[in-house]
Amino acid sequence: MSGYQPGEQPPRGGRLVKLNTNENPYPPAPGVRRVLQNFDASLLRLYPDPVFKDLSRVISGLCGRGADEIIVGNGSDDLLTMALRSFTSAGRKLSVFTPSYSLYSVLAKIQDCECDEISLDEKNGFSLPDDAETRIADASLLIICRPNAPTGNSFPLDRIASLIDACNGVAMVDEAYADFSDDNCLELCRSRKNAILMRTLSKSYSLAGLRLGYALAAPEIISGMMKVKDSYNVGMLSQVLAIEALSDRSHFEANLSKILKTRAFLSDSLSARGFRVFPSQSNFVLVEPPSPWKAEKLYQDLKRNGVLVRHFSVQNVDKFLRITVGTDNEIKFLLEQIDLIVPGPEGLSAI
Ligand SMILES: *Cc1c(COP(=O)(O)O)cnc(C)c1O
Repeated sequence: MSGYQPGEQPPRGGRLVKLNTNENPYPPAPGVRRVLQNFDASLLRLYPDPVFKDLSRVISGLCGRGADEIIVGNGSDDLLTMALRSFTSAGRKLSVFTPSYSLYSVLAKIQDCECDEISLDEKNGFSLPDDAETRIADASLLIICRPNAPTGNSFPLDRIASLIDACNGVAMVDEAYADFSDDNCLELCRSRKNAILMRTLSKSYSLAGLRLGYALAAPEIISGMMKVKDSYNVGMLSQVLAIEALSDRSHFEANLSKILKTRAFLSDSLSARGFRVFPSQSNFVLVEPPSPWKAEKLYQDLKRNGVLVRHFSVQNVDKFLRITVGTDNEIKFLLEQIDLIVPGPEGLSAI
């Protein structure tokens, strides 16, 4: 099998403007730094709380679910692994949509379970196909990424409800980008016994390096996932720093509003340059460069000029670039480089 291909992480201190893995360009809440500076290192002799009680209380306060309805992971990738190990195996089926987060199908291969990849309708802005409910009915696990990556769009809430209800197995909604979206699935998942809602602190809380995600579901589902997780899957520092980040609501709101403003600026500026820009409900935009530009060549030219964006060498997606919303200055630099690169039939670049 082939493994998951993470986006490039160039050496730290390098000069590349990094717009390729949807990290947040702004620092985390100031309390994170303060707690880190004052942390008593001798505490690290001890194992962390295996059931993250203090952190669960904070998550509970934010989303109104009980402690027995919450599980925390070493990033939401860890939660995805737990879900696949809990709810799939050889002879059972995972249903996902495509294009979407490619880790889902990689995890299915590890479990030796069938992965039904249902194509989204590109012509209609990567919307859900009409027969999706029928196709997912017999899945033992369904994963819906909403807003979806790398397309950036959200699916209608009533469609999510109908998919969860149509699924005879467990239905997971990956809300890695929901904080950047107009709405979310918190309420509709709360009232459904077979639903798991998953969030991460990697994007909207500027903590990709910390590795922290959480999932909300009925107690029966959470207790099943608790059985398969590593006993101490979330480090002590991750737990205390996540509490700080989640508790600072004003930093969170200010961070989000900057990202949303820059997202509009980025989308408008690329549209004005003739790019096809998909409407985004996340902290990135999917774009198709105007002819005669080729996405892969533009990706290479931008990298040479100091800007890293994401290009997927995957069928049907290879004509697009996915660009993370950075700071205003980073986006201005990106636009300057685009204006310098001359598209030609052979993709000749100016510099
Ligand atoms: C970033 C991302 C994740 C992983 O988040 P981590 O918490 O950093 O592991 C999960 N799903 C999607 C769709 C993502 O884009």
